[in-house]
Amino acid sequence: MRLLVMGPPGSGKGTQAAILSDKLNIAHISTGEMFRDAIKVGSELGELAARYINKGELVPDEITEAIVKERLGQEDCRKGYLLDGFPRTLTQGRALDSILLDLRNDIDCVIYLDVPTQDIVSRLTARRICGVCGAVYHLQEKIPREEGVCDLCGGKIVQREDDTEETVRKRLSIYNDATRPLVDFYQQKKLLCTIAGNLSIDETTERIMSGCF
Ligand code: AMP
Repeated sequence: MRLLVMGPPGSGKGTQAAILSDKLNIAHISTGEMFRDAIKVGSELGELAARYINKGELVPDEITEAIVKERLGQEDCRKGYLLDGFPRTLTQGRALDSILLDLRNDIDCVIYLDVPTQDIVSRLTARRICGVCGAVYHLQEKIPREEGVCDLCGGKIVQREDDTEETVRKRLSIYNDATRPLVDFYQQKKLLCTIAGNLSIDETTERIMSGCF
């Protein structure tokens, strides 16, 4: 199974992508996570990506496309994969088409988490993540057992630098301009499965599993 999850920042795509890839036993490919990992280890890619990410901007298409192309060619992707956060522009969508052509792959379904953008600013500014394993928390809705400490790995819980209000607003406006057109792009390819936002995490997973494939 080859899936793609898209939706505005804060729609829960990362959370659903982690749950679905686990349930379906396919590789979870998150470009945001790949960039954050590169930033953590201080690689050249990380330094470059940080310049864009911390301002809430998109990393340039050529860089992002190259890391996805390399990743999709790896062995574990043969059993299937779930792309989370890629593509984010029409140019990346077309680049993915050509990567898939080379790999003789096809996407089975594009899951679109349709969350009203007015709900998003408060959701994202309250989000916290584990600085070590990336697990996601929320100041009101998903509180760790011990304050500031990750339930899963004991790592320190931090706020993502791009989750401040100003940066979230910028990310949303970039989403509307650059990423939203992909909804039509995949609708025309008859791949889109739209799931209404505002449901609980479990309900969302259930709707996807029963309605999308
Ligand atoms: P995410 O974890 O998906 O919210 O991604 C975090 C940040 O990484 C985004 O706000 C972008 O700056 C960058 N990023 C992730 N995926 C892409 C992509 N496909 N194209 C460009 N930038 C990306």
